[in-house]
Amino acid sequence: MSYKIIKVPSNGEKITFEEGKLNVPNHPIIPFIEGDGIGGDITKATLPLLNKAVEKAYNGKRSLQWMEIFAGEKAYSLYNEYLPKETLQAIKDFIVALKGPLTTPIGGGFRSLNVTLRQTLDLYACVRPVRYFNGVVAPVKEPQKLDVVIFRENTEDVYSGIEWEAYSDEANAIIHYLKTHFHTHINESSAIGIKPISEDATKRLVRSAISYMIQKKRKSLTLVHKGNIMKYTEGAFKTWGYEVALEEYRDIFVSEDELYAQYDGKLPEGKFLVKDRIADSMFQQVLLRPDEYDVIALPNLNGDYLSDACAAQVGGIGLAPGANIGDYIGLFEATHGTAPKHANKNKVNPSSLILSGVMMLDYMGWPEAADMITKAIEKTIQSKVVTYDLARLMNIEPVSTSEFAEQIQENL
Ligand code: NAP
Repeated sequence: MSYKIIKVPSNGEKITFEEGKLNVPNHPIIPFIEGDGIGGDITKATLPLLNKAVEKAYNGKRSLQWMEIFAGEKAYSLYNEYLPKETLQAIKDFIVALKGPLTTPIGGGFRSLNVTLRQTLDLYACVRPVRYFNGVVAPVKEPQKLDVVIFRENTEDVYSGIEWEAYSDEANAIIHYLKTHFHTHINESSAIGIKPISEDATKRLVRSAISYMIQKKRKSLTLVHKGNIMKYTEGAFKTWGYEVALEEYRDIFVSEDELYAQYDGKLPEGKFLVKDRIADSMFQQVLLRPDEYDVIALPNLNGDYLSDACAAQVGGIGLAPGANIGDYIGLFEATHGTAPKHANKNKVNPSSLILSGVMMLDYMGWPEAADMITKAIEKTIQSKVVTYDLARLMNIEPVSTSEFAEQIQENL
């Protein structure tokens, strides 16, 4: 394992994956991408806080050995490319990594560095837990009723990048082909995008959601789709999702029909519920009956929309963490962007990256440190020590990014 620019810390060890299990040493090397724009501010606040929580939770017997890897503008200045091969290799080699936001370079040859990272590393599940933190001002009356974990498919759907401009040779050829072979009329001035949804990708996403549910003792899985309109893509997502729950996990899953026909509407002890909702109805459901939802699995585009809507419902995107997880590699990242107008002002809210770090610690099997940070964030917000975004809603004076992080450290 040798890299051109990345420096591997000498006093850490590699996390490995063997026989279906993650093996985490006491001093794991964790690659991190600082990110563009506000990435520097939030990373500077996050890493020392994670270090402190780990030290405190395990009495100094464990530590995180950070290893900087590069993507985005910093990578461009070092390698003359935005996403160097050794960055991807380092994430593969070290398995668990943390990432700040990245600007999508204009004309840089990538649609989006984030999408490229997820697709190249085959990080097929975008996992976003959304819950309310006491003290935050939210736009609904009972924000605490929403506590969901969203599993969004990350590799296909309209995000697979197969699309052609209107009037291009490719768009023209496809329109002509469909007309001559399938007698399908498409307006000749149309751009064309392709929406693949496969059985393999759907089923591995749903398996990953189910394995999370079992581990975390969450009760229901909702498959969200627009299958009433797109029968063979979104509709198939629902069918394949049910197949996983009700065939592969038959002994533990109960469908909604079975719940009422056989169990009088009460889920038996030790069982899990699987149901489905049409996407547009789901946006009403999370607002009107939020406590009926728990783990939610969706195709890529619906997942993108619903996760931001849910995050807004509990008081903002600034507090929503995220992870991109494959068979075993986990890339934990802030869900907001680079907010360039606030960059290097020590002003923005670092909570999204900090809570992504919390998800990372949990994924590594270090829940004590993870819980300690979550509780400390809650305490900090409740004591009205917050950055400008929350202060604006709470009508109070803000603190800086670093002051906020220091207060969380105090509250650990
Ligand atoms: P954005 O960077 O998320 O910023 C939009 C607004 O959200 C900011 O102006 C700010 O609102 C608020 N905000 C974002 N992060 C915040 C934080 N940590 N604390 C407080 N407020 C925060 O979205 P964008 O302006 O659309 O995107 C900018 C760049 O980021 C683009 O190049 C985009 O491609 C990229 N992007 C990257 C990722 C990723 O890396 N995962 C995700 C999304 C976008 P106010 O100014 O109103 O306070």
